[in-house]
Amino acid sequence: GTIVLSLLLAVGVNVAHGTESAAVDRRVDRLLKQMTLEEKVGQLTQYSAESKATGPVAIESNVRDGIRSGRVGSVFSVVGTNSTRQYQELALQSRLKIPLLFGMDVIHGYKTTFPIPLAEVASWDLEAIQRSARVAATEAAAGGIHWTFAPMVDIARDPRWGRVMEGAGEDTYLASRVAAARVKGFQGRQLGDADAVMACVKHFAGYGAAVGGRDYNSVDMSERMLWETYLPPFKAALDAGASTFMTSFNDLNGVPATGNSHLLRDILKGKWGFTGFVVSDWRSVDEMVDHGYAADNKDAARIALNAGVDMDMQSGVYQGNLVQLVREKKVKLADVDDAVRRILRKKFELGLFEDPYKFSDAERERQALNNPEHRKAARDIAAKSIVLLKNDGAVLPLSKSVRKLALIGPMIKQGVENHGFWSVTVPGVDYAHQAVSTWDGIAAKLGKDTTLLYAKGSDIDGEDRSGFAEAVRVASEADAVVIEVGERWDASGESRSRANPTLPGGQEDLIKAIVATGKPVVVMINAGRPLVFDWVADHAPAILYTWWLGSEAGNAVADVLFGDVNPSAKLPMTFPRSVGQIPIYYNHFNTGRPAPTPTTTEWVSGYIDLVNLPRFPFGFGLSYTTFRYDDLRLDRETLRGNDKLQVRMTLTNTGKAAGEEVVQLYLRDRVASVVRPVKELKGFQKVALAPGETRTVEFTIDKESLSFFNSALRWDAEPGEFDLMVGASSDDIRLRSSFQYVR
Ligand code: BGC
Repeated sequence: GTIVLSLLLAVGVNVAHGTESAAVDRRVDRLLKQMTLEEKVGQLTQYSAESKATGPVAIESNVRDGIRSGRVGSVFSVVGTNSTRQYQELALQSRLKIPLLFGMDVIHGYKTTFPIPLAEVASWDLEAIQRSARVAATEAAAGGIHWTFAPMVDIARDPRWGRVMEGAGEDTYLASRVAAARVKGFQGRQLGDADAVMACVKHFAGYGAAVGGRDYNSVDMSERMLWETYLPPFKAALDAGASTFMTSFNDLNGVPATGNSHLLRDILKGKWGFTGFVVSDWRSVDEMVDHGYAADNKDAARIALNAGVDMDMQSGVYQGNLVQLVREKKVKLADVDDAVRRILRKKFELGLFEDPYKFSDAERERQALNNPEHRKAARDIAAKSIVLLKNDGAVLPLSKSVRKLALIGPMIKQGVENHGFWSVTVPGVDYAHQAVSTWDGIAAKLGKDTTLLYAKGSDIDGEDRSGFAEAVRVASEADAVVIEVGERWDASGESRSRANPTLPGGQEDLIKAIVATGKPVVVMINAGRPLVFDWVADHAPAILYTWWLGSEAGNAVADVLFGDVNPSAKLPMTFPRSVGQIPIYYNHFNTGRPAPTPTTTEWVSGYIDLVNLPRFPFGFGLSYTTFRYDDLRLDRETLRGNDKLQVRMTLTNTGKAAGEEVVQLYLRDRVASVVRPVKELKGFQKVALAPGETRTVEFTIDKESLSFFNSALRWDAEPGEFDLMVGASSDDIRLRSSFQYVR
């Protein structure tokens, strides 16, 4: 009965949705008929803006006039109800009163700052990740924002590239699951709700594979690599309902992504049937002139529109040239109309024609931005994002009754370092004090019996070692030491490629000096990317990787340091031992020759001067408890056609603390029409267990899990033998089996 009922309901909803979208299309068409060509081009034009908290907003006069005359369709980086209202008032003075669309880079929170995206992925907690995006959307929407330029779903295997902080790491399966969770989080129940913002999936495509990890650099990759490794997270985001896509700055196999009709028309709007709209990246349209792909701005406008870019972000070349290009028949009016339709449809779906100020509600804004639930969510996921990399002699968790605790390092009193690269500046918010520092988090956690000692030790950057002696003295007096080091908040992010992604300045030497005291030392590393810190990894007793954790950083860190939260995060990227080893990732192919130095796979290529292993492998992370993996059971030896294979194993918490384990399932296709990775993640479950508790963990394998882009570029599963591995990381396989696949 319930099944029938829910089926009927589902059909009902679809029918309702269908009529709704037909109604929207009719409204779009009616409006389109009234529009001049200039007004149409206006809808395809977007500019960024500066805004102020109160009083008249400083809107540049050309933008102001542009909006009033219907020549601008969208403005981004307008922050707050006050500012968005003032802009919208201008749009409502235009002839057709088409409301503006307000965009913003809401990447890891709006007012409540969440951990940077890469850090959140380390939680492997899709619900928490979705909730984080939901909170960000609720706050941003209350401040007038309709549209966030997130999620960034670029696969990244090179930590020299500063934008790894913004994505979901190196693995296509994990990144795809995360992409869908983030889209659902941002877009909420449905567009049109006052707390739902449009997602923008970026950067389409290949951006993470920039040669040498240098931002904006060329990308040259096979079509198969593109389809198999880089495109699936975009497809997953699209399937989750993503409203918009953004192009990327790079050229892909010689064609700038912003002028790439293969990507935009053939794949995205063609094969995938995307009905939302595509925005360029910041001036990536006129940058095609610099690429040497367009002769001049007018040529760039022609190429981009013809390739399928609907909205021109910031370069103004649509505004300046499209009317003439249509008159000269170099651009089809039908293509302009299609782009306008796509954008107007979203404005209707958002409900902006009913109420242009729907998202700009001062009272709602006040409540959303001061919501303690949001801080709670931020603290929860921040703690879940912290990776325990090492814990020799069970230094951690620290005892709450520790008498003297030394807190050392240039960041330990600097909450602001936790905001990360893309934090939004909301008017009136004191960001320097908005994020909880480690010092404050620990002080709030501990009672009067603990004395906290402090030494800065060094700066984040720079070679000054004059503070070392004081830091060593303070450490020597203490019963335990926490030292916090890392990258400045702006050292990973856009245009922040680093040739040497190591601990900046004298920080590694500071750690050496502190570790030499022989005290129980916990090293906390804050960064936007995997750093290389080989000495520390070998010699520090305990290491927590704390990324940039956002507003609640210090509280979350204190939760983990003192065992109120048992760390459960696992690395979403491989950590290298040496910069020369980059790019290094777990799902590599084998060669036909033995490796020159020790490694996990005998046939992997490597170096004669370096142990051929990652420093910390993909999927790795420790806990304060231990887990036993037992009893792997497959419900059949042979998987046929579209059947499903049920995999079960038994997980037991064998330690004394409650904890969560991320159980990971990997597959290997033994022989195929093209070489296959040594293993590929195909499933994971995050399981919470009390001490001594045992649970059955289940996975389902089907044809989809076995499929790949074969030699004919077709997504298919090939018959043959598959290895199945279940483990605690890509390098810590506890259980193995195999099965056959037949068509
Ligand atoms: C970035 C985009 C971002 C845009 C708008 C560009 O430089 O590449 O990711 O959304 O700026 O701020």
